[in-house]
Amino acid sequence: MSTETFVIVGGGLAAARAVEAIREGGRQGPLILIGDEATLPYDRPPLSKAVLAGTEVPETALLHPAQWYRERNVDLSLGLRATRLDTSAHTLTVEGRGRLTWDRLLIATGSSPRRLAVPGADLRNVLYLRTMGQATTLRDRLRSGQPVVIVGAGWIGLEVAAAARAHGCEVTVVEPQPTPLHAVVGAQIGRYFVDLHTAHGVAFRLGTGVDRLVGNSDGAVSGVVTTTGEHLAAATVLVGVGITPNTILAQEAGIEVDNGIRCDESLRTSSPDVFAAGDVANWFNPTLQQHIRVDHWSNAQESGFAAGRSMVGEQVHHDVMPYFFSDQYDAGLEYAGHVPRGTATEVVLRGDPADDAFMAFWLAEGRVLAGMHVNVWDTIDDVQALIASRSTVDPQVLADPREPIVTKGQKGIVASRPDPQPDPVS
Ligand SMILES: Cc1cc2nc3c(=O)[nH]c(=O)nc-3n(C[C@H](O)[C@H](O)[C@H](O)COP(=O)(O)OP(=O)(O)OC[C@H]3O[C@@H](n4cnc5c(N)ncnc54)[C@H](O)[C@@H]3O)c2cc1C
Repeated sequence: MSTETFVIVGGGLAAARAVEAIREGGRQGPLILIGDEATLPYDRPPLSKAVLAGTEVPETALLHPAQWYRERNVDLSLGLRATRLDTSAHTLTVEGRGRLTWDRLLIATGSSPRRLAVPGADLRNVLYLRTMGQATTLRDRLRSGQPVVIVGAGWIGLEVAAAARAHGCEVTVVEPQPTPLHAVVGAQIGRYFVDLHTAHGVAFRLGTGVDRLVGNSDGAVSGVVTTTGEHLAAATVLVGVGITPNTILAQEAGIEVDNGIRCDESLRTSSPDVFAAGDVANWFNPTLQQHIRVDHWSNAQESGFAAGRSMVGEQVHHDVMPYFFSDQYDAGLEYAGHVPRGTATEVVLRGDPADDAFMAFWLAEGRVLAGMHVNVWDTIDDVQALIASRSTVDPQVLADPREPIVTKGQKGIVASRPDPQPDPVS
C-alpha cells in the first residue's frame, strides 16, 4: 500500500471532487486538504440564487457532511492558508500549521472577485459575492428592501438583480458595455437580458462606468456617481466585475502561469508532481485543441475528479465541453461551447426571445461553436453533440424549432459531413 502523501490546496468543489477520485482510485495514504475558508467545501451557485433569495439556508450548499471526510480519512485543515510552495523540496508552508511535505499536490485555489478600483470602493456595504459569509451579508442587506446598485451586468450581477427584485429592492445595474454579458453572448442576446430584467423592474445604465462611490459620515455607501455624472442612490452596492484566478502560490513557486495555471490535458502543471483543477486551471482541452480556463461549476466538478485520478496515476484526458447554467426569475438557461475572444460569429435564433423560451447558436464558418437555451429543457446534450461534431449546418434549418438539432447520422440541419478529424485522444 502506498504511503505517499497527497495534499490538496483549496477547499472548494474541485478539491472535494479530487478527494472522491483519490479515495475511489484506491489510494489510502495520507491525504491532507488545506482550505482557507473555515467552512466545509460547498457549492457556490446557490449563493446567488436560493440562498440570496432566502428560500434556502446556506448549509444546504455543503457538498458533504464532516462525516464524509472522516470516513475517507481526510486530514481536513480548514481556515488555514497555504502561503508558500516549494516544488524542489516538495514542501508546502501553511499558516498556523507549519511546513508539510508532500509527494503529489493539487492546486484547486479557485478564483477571487476583481475589485472595483474607484474612490469610495472601500466604503461599508460595498459588497462582493464569492463566499457563504458574503452571501448571507448580502441577503440580509437585500431584506431591508433599500435601493441597490449593481456594478457589472455579468452572470453574478444579473442573478443578484433578480434576487434583489424578489426582496422588493429598487435595482439599478451599471455596465460599461452596451449590453449585459456582452463578451459571452454578444449584443443581440444581451438585449434579451435587458428586456427580461426591465420587465421585472430593473433599471440599466449601459455604456456607463462608475466614477466614484460616495458615503455617509458614518462610512457607509450612500450612492454611486456614474461616468455620465449621474448620482444613483444606494444603500448597498454589489460589485460583480469578473474574477481573477488565484495563481499566486503557483506563480511564486515558478510553475507556469498564463491566465491560470497552465496544465496539460491530464491537468498536470509544468511541475510534474503538481496538478491544478477548477477555476484556476488553464488546461489543454483535447476537443477544442487549445488551452482554456473555465470558471464554471461543471468544470470544477469534472476537472477536480479528473485531477484526482491523474494524481493516483490513471491515464486522464480532461476533455469536457464548457457548460454553464443560470436562473433569473422564471428563466432557466444552459450554455455550452466556447467562442474564442475576438471570433466573429453569426447568431442563429431558434424560437422568439419574446416568448421567454428560445435557443441561440453562435456560428463561425458554418459550424456551431456555442449554443444556449432559455426554458427549452433537455436540449443541451444535443447542443453539445452538435458542437463536438464540428459539422457545418444550414442556419435556416437550425433556426426551425420543428427540425431536430441533431439526428442519427447528422441529417436534418447538417449541410455537409464534418471534416476528417485526427483520432480522439481519449
Ligand atoms: C455566487 C456564485 C454563483 C455561481 N453560480 C454559478 C452557476 O450558476 N453556474 C455555474 O456554472 N457556475 C457558477 N459559479 C461558478 C462556480 O461556483 C465556480 O466555477 C466553482 O466554485 C469553482 O470551484 P473551485 O473549486 O475551482 O474554486 P472555489 O470554489 O473558488 O474554491 C477554492 C477554494 O480555495 C481557497 N483558497 C484559495 N487560495 C488558498 C490558499 N492559498 N490556501 C488555502 N485555501 C485557498 C478559496 O478560499 C476557496 O475556498 C458561481 C460562482 C459564484 C461565486
